[in-house]
Amino acid sequence: MNQYYHSNPGVSSDLLPYKELMVDGHKIREHRHVMQTILKRKLSTKEHVHHINGNGLDNRPENLLVLSHSEHSKLEYLERMEQLKK
Ligand SMILES: [Zn+2]
Repeated sequence: MNQYYHSNPGVSSDLLPYKELMVDGHKIREHRHVMQTILKRKLSTKEHVHHINGNGLDNRPENLLVLSHSEHSKLEYLERMEQLKK
């Protein structure tokens, strides 16, 4: 897998740009904050918020999906395969 993305601030593991918010004095990625508000709980670091339409700046609830990291890599793989077909 990509080893560099964690040290690449401003780009999520989807390699998408994202928005950051300040909440209670902490920086948080907007899509994680939106999801936490919907779920009414904190997301764990094992949970990944995926952007269904591939736009990291589109944080509408219907564009967000919570996945474990393994589910997420599977989905990203399938999506990449889909894109190769186009
Ligand atoms: Zn994703």
